[in-house]
Amino acid sequence: MKIIDILNQRNMSLSFEVFPPKKESTFESVVEATEEIAACHPAFMSVTYGAGGGTSKYTMEIAKNIKDKYDVPTLAHLTCVSSSKETVHEKIREMKEMGIENVMALRGDLTPELEKTDPSKWDYKHATELVAELKQSGDFCIGAACYPEVHPDSINQKDDLDYIKEKVEAGADFLTTQMVFDNNLFFNFMYKIREIGVTVPIIPGIMPITNASQVARAIKLSGSFMPQRFKSLVDYFGNDPDAMKQAGIAYATDQIIDLYANGITNVHVYSMNKPDVAKSIMNNLSDILGKDFNR
Ligand code: FAD
Repeated sequence: MKIIDILNQRNMSLSFEVFPPKKESTFESVVEATEEIAACHPAFMSVTYGAGGGTSKYTMEIAKNIKDKYDVPTLAHLTCVSSSKETVHEKIREMKEMGIENVMALRGDLTPELEKTDPSKWDYKHATELVAELKQSGDFCIGAACYPEVHPDSINQKDDLDYIKEKVEAGADFLTTQMVFDNNLFFNFMYKIREIGVTVPIIPGIMPITNASQVARAIKLSGSFMPQRFKSLVDYFGNDPDAMKQAGIAYATDQIIDLYANGITNVHVYSMNKPDVAKSIMNNLSDILGKDFNR
């Protein structure tokens, strides 16, 4: 099933992101965790490509397994900046063979090694190029990333928004945001992106922070703003793992409910291969999910 068809439904839904294992020896445990999350029957699941420390080797395998075994639609991520055209075309071929219909087209982060090389020699500089290639290569539903708090490489928000528009014009069917901890930043972004004529569905990304050590890492990875209300929660409960987990799940749930209550129908949860967190959030929303509240 194409993700865009899920996004065009009016029912409230939730999707989860998982990442592939860092090394071969943890493959089985990662598959187990992703299957437990799939058993909650989210609207769809995305599988990252080399992000968050995971390797890219198993992305498609995990996406195919979830789709085939649990009938949960999957979205396989693919990055391009550190790849050759040949490698990307090979991946696209593999995706078609595996029946993967949904692809999240990303540039990927610039590594220090890559930054030392001459960009004119790179086969890909921006995600837009990958989006355009995917569009030409088959009947894929294509997602792309966007940044309510502006991508760290951007000089200003206007340019960043214009480049997002370019990605959509190249063929992106929907956008998923970088994690936000303050919904007002997302609503503000929505206003600006709609104002420049981008009309595709935009899925807010929510990261449940369930232990204090995740905070610094999340800020480093995303640069996202942490509201005082959230910082107080980490300060107060951070030393008690169970309390912190409960408070982090409650905070994420509260954000999701606020998004639904403001007309957003699908929310993407960075579930970090944690089935207990995914299950708790689903349970917290059990009387909301699947219903159409659009009046
Ligand atoms: P782009 O859209 O290329 O944008 C990158 C920067 O270039 C921005 O500043 C943009 O404004 C600018 N830009 C875009 N086009 C142009 C242009 N034509 N000329 C000049 N400047 C331009 N990383 C992974 O490695 N694996 C993953 O699985 C992964 N999943 C992600 C999922 C989501 C939802 C998000 C938000 C991020 C994800 N990332 C992942 C991180 C992502 O790869 C990085 O944030 C990366 O630095 C940018 O990727 P992008 O696709 O947004 O790039």
